[in-house]
Amino acid sequence: MKIPFNRPVAVGPEFAYMQQALQTGKISGDGMFTQRCHSLLEEELGVPRALLTSSCTHALEMSAILLDIQPGDEVIIPSFTFVSTVNAFVLRGARPVFIDVRPDTLNLDENLLAEKITPRTRAIVPVHYAGIACEMDAIMEIAAAHGVAVVEDNAHGLFGRYKGRYLGTFGVMATQSFHETKNFMMGEGGALLINDPALIERAEIVREKGTNRARFFRGQVDKYTWVDIGSSYLPSDMLAAFLLAQLEARERIQQHRQRIWLRYHEQLRAWAEKNDVRQPHIPPEVEPAWHLYYLLLPSLDARQRFIAHMAAHDIKTVFHYLPLHLSDMGRRFGGQVGDCPVTEDVSDRLVRLPLYNDLDEAALQIILNAVEAFSV
Ligand SMILES: *Cc1c(COP(=O)(O)O)cnc(C)c1O
Repeated sequence: MKIPFNRPVAVGPEFAYMQQALQTGKISGDGMFTQRCHSLLEEELGVPRALLTSSCTHALEMSAILLDIQPGDEVIIPSFTFVSTVNAFVLRGARPVFIDVRPDTLNLDENLLAEKITPRTRAIVPVHYAGIACEMDAIMEIAAAHGVAVVEDNAHGLFGRYKGRYLGTFGVMATQSFHETKNFMMGEGGALLINDPALIERAEIVREKGTNRARFFRGQVDKYTWVDIGSSYLPSDMLAAFLLAQLEARERIQQHRQRIWLRYHEQLRAWAEKNDVRQPHIPPEVEPAWHLYYLLLPSLDARQRFIAHMAAHDIKTVFHYLPLHLSDMGRRFGGQVGDCPVTEDVSDRLVRLPLYNDLDEAALQIILNAVEAFSV
C-alpha cells in the first residue's frame, strides 16, 4: 500500500542518543537515558515516580501485583479495549467484570459503574480511548466512595488533559505505551506512572525481579537480595535513548498529530453528515492527546466496503477492538451477547484512518479525496 496505516519514524537525535548509550558502557536497564526519560515524565506530568517498562502490558501487570490482586478479586474493565488491559489482572487470578462504553466518547460509561461494584471489587481500569479523557470526576468519586483503586490505562492519552489536568495523574497508578503504533515510540516499551508515593519502593522491587537492586545502587541498603515477587520489567537503555528523543520532540509531535486530526475532523464533516457517518466527540472539558482518528460507519457492511474502497486507493485503514466479553476468554468469564450493547455495536462499525508522525500534506490530501469518493 502506498499509504500505510502507521509508520515508525525518528524525529530527532534518536540514533545519536543510541550511540551515546553504547558509549556509556551500559545498555541494560536503568542507564542514563532511562533516568532521563523518568525525569522528563516526572517533571512534565508532575507525577511522584515514572518507571519505564518493557511494555504497557508489563506496566499493567506491575499495577496488578502492586495492588495485591488476589484470585477471586473483581476488576471493572471496559469491554472495548486491548486485551492487555484485562489480561494483566486475570494473570493474578482476578475475575474481569466488563462494563460498556458511552456511545459518544467510547469511554467506560461511568453511569454503569455503581451497578458493577460488589464487595469483591478491587479496581476500576478506565481507558482514555483515542486520547480523549474519561469522565474522571465521576469515576474517582465512585471509586473513593467504595474504597476501590483506579488504574488508568493511558496508552492513548499521554499529554492529554481532563479539566486542565494531565491524564495519568488521576488514578493511584497509570500505564503508558511506547509501542511503535503510539504517539511516542521505542518499538516495544511502556511506563508505569505512580501517583501514590507509598507504592514507589515496592514498584522498584517488583520491576527488578523482586530484588532491592535499585535501593542497593543508591546506597540505601548494603545487600542486594531477593525481597518480594517480581519480574524483569526494564527496557534496554538503547530503547530508552530512542524514546528520549521522541519525548523531547513532544510539542512538535503533538502539534503535527493535532493538525492532521483536525483536518480529518473538519474536512470530512460534510461528507460524514451526508453519509450518516459519525465522527469522534470531544467533551468541552477535554484536551485530547490526538492518538487516533476514527469514523463510525452506519453498518458493518458499510465499514467493510469502506476498508476495501480505501485499499483500492492504496490506503491502509484498520478496525479494532473486538468486544472482550465475547472473545473466547471473555465467554469463559460468562460474557454473553447483549452484555455491552454499545461496544458490540461500535466494534462492527469503527474504522481508523492513517495517523503517524510524518504523514504529510500530500498523503493527507490523497486520504481525504479517497474518503470523500466513498458513498455509503
Ligand atoms: C497499545 C495498548 C496497550 C498495550 O501496549 P503495549 O505497550 O503494546 O503492551 C494496552 N492498552 C491499550 C489501550 C493500548 O492501546
